[in-house]
Amino acid sequence: MANRQILLKSRPVGEPTPANFECVDRPVPAPAAGGALVRTIYLSVDPYMRGRMNAGKSYADPVNIGDVMCGGTVGQVVESLDPTFKPGDLVLGDGGWQEFAALDGSRLRKLDANAAPISYTLGALGMPGMTAYVGMIDIGQPKAGETVVVSAAAGAVGSVAGQIAKLKGCRVVGIAGSDEKCRYVVESLGFDACINYKTEPLLGRLRKHCPGGIDVYFDSVAGSTLETILRLINVGARIPLIGLISLYNATELTPGPNLFPLLVRRAMIKGMIVSDHANRQPAFLADMTAWIRDGKVKVRETIVNGLENAPAAFIGLFRGENTGKMLVKVSREA
Ligand code: NDP
Repeated sequence: MANRQILLKSRPVGEPTPANFECVDRPVPAPAAGGALVRTIYLSVDPYMRGRMNAGKSYADPVNIGDVMCGGTVGQVVESLDPTFKPGDLVLGDGGWQEFAALDGSRLRKLDANAAPISYTLGALGMPGMTAYVGMIDIGQPKAGETVVVSAAAGAVGSVAGQIAKLKGCRVVGIAGSDEKCRYVVESLGFDACINYKTEPLLGRLRKHCPGGIDVYFDSVAGSTLETILRLINVGARIPLIGLISLYNATELTPGPNLFPLLVRRAMIKGMIVSDHANRQPAFLADMTAWIRDGKVKVRETIVNGLENAPAAFIGLFRGENTGKMLVKVSREA
C-alpha cells in the first residue's frame, strides 16, 4: 500500500499553478510511540496556505520545498500506539496533503460522528467558524439595528460571520463574486442583500443597501473593496481585519486605501489571528453547535474528490470556485 502525497515543488510567483506541486507515492509510515497512523478522509484547503508557500515567515513558518503541504484533516485511526485512540476512531488533526499521516496523539482530537457531519470540524465548527465567531462577536461587536457588511460572503468564514450578525439583529449586506453566490447568501443564509463585486458598481450598490452607513465591515479581502467601504463607515465603526485575499497573489505592493476616514469617524480596524483566541473555543463550540442544530446557521461545502485534485481545489480558492468551505475528499469513511 502506498501513501500518496502532494509536495511543494516550487514557490509560486503570483497565482499558484499545478506546476508548484508534485504528487508522489511513498511508503505508508509507521506510528511512533504515543502516536497514531491516520488515514485521511477530508483535507481542508485554505487561503492561508498561499502564505506558507512563500519563503518568508509571516505568522507561521513556511513549508519547505519538497515537504508535504500542510493542512487540517479529518481522518480515521488505522493503528495506534496512544491508549487514547483505537483503530476506527475518527479524529481531527493536521495530517497535511497526503493519504496517511503518522501523528502524535497530542495533535489529534477525537470526533463524535453523531454530533455533526465530521467535515464540519474543518469548516463551520472548526478554524474558519471560530474565525467568524471571534472576528464578528469580539471585534465587530455587532449591535441590533446596526449595518454589517461581509466580504467573501459565500465562503467558509464569511458565510458564518454574516449569519452571526443576523443572529445579533443586524442588517447584513454581503459581497461575493457571482450572481449564484449572491442568491445563495440572500435566499439560503438570510442576508438582507448581496452585491456581486465583479459585475455591479460597488460604491453605488453599498449606498443603496446601507442607507444609514456601515457600522461593521468584516474584511476578508482588503484592497479596493476596503477602500470603497471606508468612504461609507459611521462614527465608531469597527473593522475586523480577517484576511487580504485580494492581495495574496500580488507580485508588487499595491496602492493602499485612504485611511483618513478611520480617524475622522473614530473607527477601529483590528487585525486578528484565530490561533490567539483558544480561550474562546468552548463558547464558540457551544454556540455554533447549537446554532447549526437549530438551523440558525446553515452550512454548505464544496467537495473536490481525490487527493491528486488538491492543488486544483486550492487554486480554485483564488478564483472563487467554492461556495462555503472548500474540502478535498481523500478517502471514504470505513
Ligand atoms: P473562502 O471559503 O472565503 O474562499 C476564498 C474566497 O475568496 C473565494 O471563494 C472567492 O470568493 C474570494 N476571493 C478570492 N480571490 C478574491 C479577490 N481577489 N477579491 C475578492 N475576493 C476574492 O476562504 P476562507 O473562508 O477560508 O477565508 C476567507 C478569508 O479569511 C481569507 O482572507 C483568509 O485568509 C481569512 N482567514 C483568516 C483567519 C485569521 O485567523 N485571521 C483564519 C481563517 C481565514 P468570490 O467568488 O466571492 O470572489
